[in-house]
Amino acid sequence: MKIRVGHLYPDYLNIYADRGNIAVLERRAAWRGAELVVTAIGVDERVEPGRHDLYYVGGGQDREQALIAPDLAAKGKGLRQAVGEGAAVLAVCGGYQLLGAFYRDVSGAEQPGAGVLPLYTVAGGTRMIGDCLIECELEPGVQRALAGFENHAGRTHLDVGAEPLGRVVAGFGNDGESGFEGCRVGRAVGTYLHGPLLPRNPWLADWLLAQALAHAEGGDPPELEPLADELEERAHAVSAGRAQARRGK
Ligand code: GLN
Repeated sequence: MKIRVGHLYPDYLNIYADRGNIAVLERRAAWRGAELVVTAIGVDERVEPGRHDLYYVGGGQDREQALIAPDLAAKGKGLRQAVGEGAAVLAVCGGYQLLGAFYRDVSGAEQPGAGVLPLYTVAGGTRMIGDCLIECELEPGVQRALAGFENHAGRTHLDVGAEPLGRVVAGFGNDGESGFEGCRVGRAVGTYLHGPLLPRNPWLADWLLAQALAHAEGGDPPELEPLADELEERAHAVSAGRAQARRGK
């Protein structure tokens, strides 16, 4: 079993060890006998729908985002087609913002987006920083918690009818007001949660791997064999506890 990952702009969008998410996907795939083949997709490199099963893009400061935003926007058509054909996506913070329509950054400059996710982002005067806990339901009737760390000036506004990734239990989330965090379109997920996110939320890593395998092999997402995740669960509990402790502060 091979899972082909397209890592967008690894040299520009990689803060808070976001690259660690790839390492988690690689390990958890290997423990199930699957090989993760990661290729970097940089400036002037094409997105070819069907060539990758999972796209990953990390976070970044406004400056780094501005350096790649026009190029990412030009890749929008390919990415929208790939997502439409069932490719999975994990986009974190700055990468999440640039998969929307646009990001108006702290300087007021409007950075074009790829138009993959139904949202837009406008930076506010303060940064939203701290541990964050959300409740998700990616599978009907299956409630799951996601814990991570957020640090963003951007306030993200979902289009009417757009599906958030989850409900904020503690923290700011998309805009500190709506009570929602992230966005989901099919197998594409965007979130503000860094950390990196996946080591402390192994269920999401497995969900992404299963979606990517369904794209690679056709059919429904497979049930992946459970792993002994004691360490991951403890990391989750610490992060969730810190977020809960922030509530009402
Ligand atoms: N530069 C963006 C913002 O401030 C994203 C930050 C990030 O990726 N952590 O909102």
